[in-house]
Amino acid sequence: MDKKCEKCESSRIIKGKLIGYSGVVFIPENQKGIIKKSSAVMAYACKDCGSVFDITLEHPDKI
Ligand SMILES: [Zn+2]
Repeated sequence: MDKKCEKCESSRIIKGKLIGYSGVVFIPENQKGIIKKSSAVMAYACKDCGSVFDITLEHPDKI
């Protein structure tokens, strides 16, 4: 995997998960019911300029 920052083209990229107070998840807007399917959200961040990009569902197949 050879990712580059979209802003400054640095290759010092770290992969991580977007975490809020109790974890950030993506839930489809049109879902009905109490138990909703959701997926954690992964992202990449640049160590040089701080840009966060490539925000992606961890398990797009599960929603
Ligand atoms: Zn950068």
